[in-house]
Amino acid sequence: MNSKSSILLIYTGGTIGMTKDPISGALRPFNFEKILEQMPVLQGFGYEIDTVEFSPLIDSSNVNTEIWVKLIRIIKQNYGKYDGFVILHGTDTMAYTASALSFMLEDLYKPVVLTGSQLPIGTLRTDGKENLITAIEIAAAKENGNAMVPEVTICFESKLYRGNRTTKHNSEHFNAFQSYNYPILAEAGIHINYNKKAIHYPEHKKLLKVYETFDNNIAVLKMFPNLSPAYVEAVLNIPDLRAVILETYGTGNATTESWFLDKIKKAVENNVIFLNVTQCRAGSVEMGRYQTSEDLLKYGVLNGFDITIETAITKLMFLLGQELSNEEVKMYLGKSIAGEITVEV
Ligand code: ASP
Repeated sequence: MNSKSSILLIYTGGTIGMTKDPISGALRPFNFEKILEQMPVLQGFGYEIDTVEFSPLIDSSNVNTEIWVKLIRIIKQNYGKYDGFVILHGTDTMAYTASALSFMLEDLYKPVVLTGSQLPIGTLRTDGKENLITAIEIAAAKENGNAMVPEVTICFESKLYRGNRTTKHNSEHFNAFQSYNYPILAEAGIHINYNKKAIHYPEHKKLLKVYETFDNNIAVLKMFPNLSPAYVEAVLNIPDLRAVILETYGTGNATTESWFLDKIKKAVENNVIFLNVTQCRAGSVEMGRYQTSEDLLKYGVLNGFDITIETAITKLMFLLGQELSNEEVKMYLGKSIAGEITVEV
């Protein structure tokens, strides 16, 4: 029975609660009362639901590490009091926030479900109501007294995804998210079907550990045909640069022009960490498969495996923010710390 499950609903902003500015017509966040007004069903839902509202509310394009810290502090302070947490968040950066939270909350054994919508909850065809109700049901779901999904997840358009495997792939359709390299954790039809094999269940309930620090001295260097030495140099000359995500082609391939490889080699020698992440949404980096990734491997560029770009960015900022040596950071990049990559052994 889930009838007594208690949920903390955290409203950060995003389309779900937006209304049109009467003058410009642009969508902007509105207060939580508006959401509750549209959802009288929340009162009689059978769960105890409390709410916390961010001030100011934000469009998720303005998300930053401070917002992530604010979120995990709310979760930490209320961890003993609630069975699950639902975060209402804009869709634009939801995958980044979900990834960041998955690293910041270690030994999590309660659900943290992010959701939002493509249309504001006050509009007739809104997807917000269904998303919110499903997210709450999943956050409240238990089996033998334990959470059904004790992970940081994204619930959208009837599907539940592991947060750090998710990408916003569509700005128009209601199914805005995809998890290309990891199965869906649950799907809501008449019943909610849980894919227990794909869900991570901790062996023991440990004390929640939270991490609050990041280092944003990173860059993303995207490969494209004819990229110029000046562009690569500008990126590699960023002061205090500690790590670069090389967004490569296919299975991790890049141009083999010598000027390019020389610059990468020199930067590695200067202790800059390079992580090879593919521009493809599905599939994995496989360095050395083609000649066009052999030298990268030889010079010490690290394999990003099947990590999403959103998760590569948050994982790097997270690891660099901890008191770790470069060697330790590299070691953690090569393994899954929150279910974010598949490493074949
Ligand atoms: N710009 C909005 C946001 O991310 C889009 C959304 O919520 O869907 O806050």
